[in-house]
Amino acid sequence: MNKKHTDDIRFDQLHIWHPYTSMTQPLPAYKVVSAEGVRIELESGEKLIDGMASWWSVVHGYNHEVINHAMHQQIDQVSHVMFGGLTHQPAIDLCRRLIDMTPAGLDKVFLADSGSVAVEVAIKMAIQYWHSKGNAKKNKLMTVQGGYHGDTFAAMSVCDPVNGMHQLFQGFMAQAIFAPKPTLGFDQLWDATQTDALEQVFAENHQHIAAFIIEPIVQGAGGMHFYHPKYLKQCRLLCDKYNVLLIADEIATGFGRTGKLFACEHAHITPDILCLGKALTGGYLTLAATLCTKDVADTISNGEAGVFMHGPTFMGNPLACSAANASLSLLADNHWQTQIAAIEDSLQDLKSIANHENIADVRVLGAIGVVETKRAVDTAKIQAQFVKLGVWIRPFGKLVYIMPPYIISHADLQLLIDAIKQVLQRDDIWR
Ligand code: PMP
Repeated sequence: MNKKHTDDIRFDQLHIWHPYTSMTQPLPAYKVVSAEGVRIELESGEKLIDGMASWWSVVHGYNHEVINHAMHQQIDQVSHVMFGGLTHQPAIDLCRRLIDMTPAGLDKVFLADSGSVAVEVAIKMAIQYWHSKGNAKKNKLMTVQGGYHGDTFAAMSVCDPVNGMHQLFQGFMAQAIFAPKPTLGFDQLWDATQTDALEQVFAENHQHIAAFIIEPIVQGAGGMHFYHPKYLKQCRLLCDKYNVLLIADEIATGFGRTGKLFACEHAHITPDILCLGKALTGGYLTLAATLCTKDVADTISNGEAGVFMHGPTFMGNPLACSAANASLSLLADNHWQTQIAAIEDSLQDLKSIANHENIADVRVLGAIGVVETKRAVDTAKIQAQFVKLGVWIRPFGKLVYIMPPYIISHADLQLLIDAIKQVLQRDDIWR
């Protein structure tokens, strides 16, 4: 590696925060020069097969000619314009699509900047809804343990209180009400007592609860747990029974990842408010959306404020909307169901290491494969071994997991799976 490369990496380590990193003991980051399809090219010339889809977002692969073309066209027309008092075709087309594709009944769309902001918007909608109804004491949030909803303050308040990475801010955050996490897995035999404790928390607190927020079916960053669809169904029924709004956070699960277009479909439910993000633009730009029902929107609009109190500078950014429109067209054209079914089928091979002494569990749902280890892995060490094998997989804690781009070939997916199987059977990767 040349001197410029070494200087750049040193500068990066000394001056640039990366997600959840230290400035005194920074780990070197790998420098990317380009990416194409499922391969990320490093400055060193190595090409890594991406198992993470850049955190669930790059579903059609990198440098896709269809999305590139749409964005180039949009740049030549208008890249950004304020959304207050102005509108544009990319936003109109996108919101039409989102209303058409999401569960029936969600027909008002708020375009937000990122997943965390979409969650903030959903929470503000719920608080404003009850305020408008003259029931301002319904101003708390309820959720289940084991969840993850983002890094901003309201979103942090509904992350798992222990594993949600935000305990430190406890005294500063709004206090949410937590029910035990769902324990029954996606395919396990349903046991109706599974939601007894949940119902008890609803029964005891509902007068104060504005909304119940949950990640449908897959609890992502809080543990990569796939829970039973009947649990989610019961969440909807309990929200109805106790007069609480249901917020579904599909930021990770949306757009096909779990084998349904939206994970709510596993339980045939419609939430009152739905958060989308990540894969929305095919991973090209940050953009998110919060959809809600007519009832939620009308109630907010007929309330004391008369408007919904949120409106960021880059709301509805035309360039991001154009990427999203191209990505959603590709989703349909590429027959995402076939892509996900093929990935799900191949991922079953991960189960061949399920009985290894260091493995606690292996689970697969849609295009998500998770190997849960008994002890936490050393991320830097395991990362280096994966890179040597030509794959990009970034584990955290006891979770080694992949959710590759939907376009991945059988052969490339097998390389990812083989790398996981090989590395996890070594002795030197444990903390
Ligand atoms: N909700 C869920 C379910 C997520 O997985 C994430 C991101 N990991 C977020 C919200 C926050 O999204 P963002 O990082 O875009 O703010």
